[in-house]
Amino acid sequence: MSKTLQSLFVIPLGGLGEFGMNMMALRYGDDIIVIDAGMMFPESELLGVDLVIPDITYLKQHRQHVRAIVLTHGHEDHIGALPYILRDLNVPIYGTRFTLALVKKRITEAGLLDSTTLREVIPGRRIEIGPYEVEMIPVTHSTIDCVALAVRTPVGVIMHTGDFKIDHTPVGGAGFDIHTFARYGNEGVLALFSDSTNVERPGITPSERAVVPRIEELARSAPKRVILSCFASSIHRIQQVIDIASHVGRKVAFVGRSMVDNVEIAHDLEYLRIPDGMVVRSQDIRSFDPRKIIIMASGSQAEPMSSLSRIAVDNHRFVSVDEGDTVILSSRIIPGNEKAIFRMLDHMFRRRALVYYDNSAGVIHVSGHASQEEQKLVLQLVKPKYFIPVHGEYRHLFRHAALAHQLGVVSGEILLAENGHCIEFNEDGAFRRDPVAAGRVMVDSGSLEEIEEVVVRDRKHLSEDGVVVPIIAIDKHTGKLESQPEIVTRGFMSDNGSDLVTGARDIVLRTINTSNAEERADWSVIKEKIRIDLKRYINKQTSKRPLILPVILEV
Ligand SMILES: [Zn+2]
Ligand SMILES: [Zn+2]
Repeated sequence: MSKTLQSLFVIPLGGLGEFGMNMMALRYGDDIIVIDAGMMFPESELLGVDLVIPDITYLKQHRQHVRAIVLTHGHEDHIGALPYILRDLNVPIYGTRFTLALVKKRITEAGLLDSTTLREVIPGRRIEIGPYEVEMIPVTHSTIDCVALAVRTPVGVIMHTGDFKIDHTPVGGAGFDIHTFARYGNEGVLALFSDSTNVERPGITPSERAVVPRIEELARSAPKRVILSCFASSIHRIQQVIDIASHVGRKVAFVGRSMVDNVEIAHDLEYLRIPDGMVVRSQDIRSFDPRKIIIMASGSQAEPMSSLSRIAVDNHRFVSVDEGDTVILSSRIIPGNEKAIFRMLDHMFRRRALVYYDNSAGVIHVSGHASQEEQKLVLQLVKPKYFIPVHGEYRHLFRHAALAHQLGVVSGEILLAENGHCIEFNEDGAFRRDPVAAGRVMVDSGSLEEIEEVVVRDRKHLSEDGVVVPIIAIDKHTGKLESQPEIVTRGFMSDNGSDLVTGARDIVLRTINTSNAEERADWSVIKEKIRIDLKRYINKQTSKRPLILPVILEV
């Protein structure tokens, strides 16, 4: 055997130097497996881009060698790229039950279910994929059925924590399997890749159960309705709120597509226990005694069209917020979303709701990621020869490396790597090799098209499909239209040009007229609504996707 065949190459393709789009490839000889295939949401400056996924040029170049994608858990930053990359890379997907149920939903929507092989893995059982033996190890995190991976290769064992915290009193499920981590540590682990997300937090992340007393207190003392928002994937949080509701004599209702879908999936798989007669149908919410209900809504990050955003501006079919209602944001405020979230909460305050959104008066949210002491414990248990921090911006990786230095349990080297950096492991040690192509790919979720770079995308858009700028003048005080919307187009070719402009103007008018005063006063909401409606209309009429940039003038 030649030397290269005795080497293992590890290539991070996403999630190192950023939060999101986690992905890492392992290559031994002619066999590649990929750990996770995540996406991330674009920063606001990426106009018109729906989401961002890792550049998989490297995997495409070696398409015939890729054997599998192995998933650690079902969060978007670990599975969200699948619908896009499976078109180029049709390989079996391995994951736990709940993770695969979420994947199944995703790829069904993308029309890829029939062409995709899903292989459910039971944690603790070893599976063979080419020269690799993979064991999924239960870990605790903010969603369910999460695992770390131990991958036995001919060169040594690679451990990847996935996302984790160490919750000794989990709400359900297997808990964090410390013993298996220790077993691999005793056997000897070549390299550990560990979650760095919360490395800036000293101490220990509280158990998921820590939210119970405060939420129960709020639910018990709430004079009227309780509306609680958390991530729709936080099945344990949802379970606890259901349990709290039943303690305080309230029933529950679920609103928002992702919330309803995830509750249904988790309930079907028996990961969620909902007593009979506990759920109020959404169409019955309005008539239900406000003192007897907790409404769980998705949209904790104030996503423009989400339930909570709609509720905040009184544009939800089934739920409104009135004076004395209680609104609880049981989730993290993700950096970058602060403005949108606080604008949404301001609407709630304006309606004189009682609004709770941080832990200042009692814990209403806990993180799903390990703090420093838990990260140290994993390092102690695994005592790897090489340690490579993953999942974080560069400073998080750097600080996680520093933490490992401080512990002194890493016998070989601590390596700071970024996306595309290739590390070769062989009997002589670990070596940095030439980087491979890596980076971000912008995706338009409507068309499932990849866009190489945002600039290229905009240029392409402009050259092929042009730009459409609806200009709307709104009276600052009344929220009413000052004049007919104006539609300016450039480079937007169409046979029925003037009809289309007239139609587009009608669409804009309709969007504005069907929005209420609060929505009209909230530029980000109204702009997004106009963008979405116009995009749909123009695409239907012309099959083109011009760049749409709504402009609102306050007069
Ligand atoms: Zn996660
Ligand atoms: Zn993650």
